[in-house]
Amino acid sequence: MSTRRRTWWLALALMVAVVAAGLAAQGARAGAAGARGVKLITAADMKAPMRFLGAREFRGRPAPSVELDIASRYIALEAERIGLKPLMPNGSFFQDLPVEVTTMSSARSHLRVSGPGGELRLSFPQAFTTSIRTGGEWTALGGLVFAGSALNGAELKWDDAIDLRGRWVVLLEYAPPPGTTAPSAGTTPAASTAAARTRLLREKGAIGTITVISREREENLAKQGLTFDVGERLRWLDVDTVNPAPPPAPRPAGSPAQAPSAPAGPFYAVEVRHDAAAAILGVTADQVRGYFAAVAANQPVAARAMADRSLDVAVMFERTRRTTPNVVAYLPGSDPVLKDEYLVIGSHHDHLNAREGRILPGADDNASGSVAMLTLAKAMMVERPKRSVIFVWHTAEERGLVGAYYFVQHCPVPVEKITANLNLDMITRNDPNGIYLIGSNKISSELDKSFKDVNAASVKLTLDYKYEDPGEPNRFFFRSDHYPYMRYGIPGVWIFCGTTPDYHTERDVEERVDYAKMEKVTRLTYLVAMDVGNRPALLPLDLHPEIKTRGPQNMKVVWQRPATAR
Ligand SMILES: [Zn+2]
Repeated sequence: MSTRRRTWWLALALMVAVVAAGLAAQGARAGAAGARGVKLITAADMKAPMRFLGAREFRGRPAPSVELDIASRYIALEAERIGLKPLMPNGSFFQDLPVEVTTMSSARSHLRVSGPGGELRLSFPQAFTTSIRTGGEWTALGGLVFAGSALNGAELKWDDAIDLRGRWVVLLEYAPPPGTTAPSAGTTPAASTAAARTRLLREKGAIGTITVISREREENLAKQGLTFDVGERLRWLDVDTVNPAPPPAPRPAGSPAQAPSAPAGPFYAVEVRHDAAAAILGVTADQVRGYFAAVAANQPVAARAMADRSLDVAVMFERTRRTTPNVVAYLPGSDPVLKDEYLVIGSHHDHLNAREGRILPGADDNASGSVAMLTLAKAMMVERPKRSVIFVWHTAEERGLVGAYYFVQHCPVPVEKITANLNLDMITRNDPNGIYLIGSNKISSELDKSFKDVNAASVKLTLDYKYEDPGEPNRFFFRSDHYPYMRYGIPGVWIFCGTTPDYHTERDVEERVDYAKMEKVTRLTYLVAMDVGNRPALLPLDLHPEIKTRGPQNMKVVWQRPATAR
């Protein structure tokens, strides 16, 4: 070994000693609880699982999906390897949520064009699609009108020389011309143009719209060899996620009752690929391309009635029963009495469906919280808190916090024995030295005090309460898995880094994760968990006048701040 190398090793050893001493001091300041384990929580340890769970191959980990099932299996295997125990009655790490999934039937749905050349049947999801988010099955038969560029301008007008009654209106999807402003505030020009157009077409008696998708979407689908997405509607079984309605705002004296709105008959919106559009309009694919080239150059495309053609659309459904799992793991407490009380540390491991081939990896949201929990559990294996800790990776957070609601409503332990819920959801972005806390000072003063004390003695992040109020415009208070716990009267907190322009996009990738921040936030959560887990008593319920005991009776509490308050 050369002298130079030896010097280098000496320097490295010295550095390690300094860092270790710093960590020890940090731990000592935090008190005995957590001092040993906290050192095991390192950025380096979180990288590999982040790269795995945040990978595009999981196709966004939507609930329910095979990809989320695989992610769940991985988390359960890791939990088992770390030494956590299963908690579900059947000795499993999985709490399966039943769900009824409705999708459009490709066998029984169709779009049939009748014209001089005969009849042509087009299929879903290859040639056409429609949203099934709301409403039931339907069929509709009508004539055809091609709107050309007539209904895309800033001013919506329709020349009544072409009768729309009982007809489908074929539209081209393209961005409104530059400089077009949204007719109504708080919406995009495209969205508000579409809403205004639907109103106009309903008034004129049209059946619905057949939108020829934009050139960009068509090229994207063609290039990737994709069909339209198979949309789905989910009905969760055996779970109550309903929020109680806030009391109605009193109407000022003398104000008129609401004006009756126009009768709302059915109005359908169908989208078609370019080949299908050519068949519907009785033109060539080149002519369809020509229409888009014209509107892109700001040239008009003439509207026309197509008296010799008609369109018959059928949208039929298929229903299947599926399940999607909460992953539930358990660390028995070290105290013979307090082990029958629990702290729940939670995150969600689901994210969102791909859209026309665009995958949303959900690295920060929320591979980050899911991985932090694994690292945190490892640390707890060297110094178990007195209370038992339940780790829950919730499914279907993105579908309305369903996994967390299901967990509290089908809880494997008595909910009255859960001292608190710490919810890690998005912890790696924005201010490297700050973190938002939401909910910590709403049910128990001691939960928030624990954060403040532990933080001051350890990682010294800026604790930011900007989003804590239920009346805050982003309504974050209601938007993650701490909320169902709080609705059960369990003190809860969302530990949250805030959103970025990458939120719910293809850019929420592992490469953008701030691991130094992730380490600090995980350490803080760990130390708070140790503190709360070792206290002589459950956290007191001393802040909310209506919440005196933990349990489902608190579901009726209205968390929305009245608009008149403060
Ligand atoms: Zn999330």
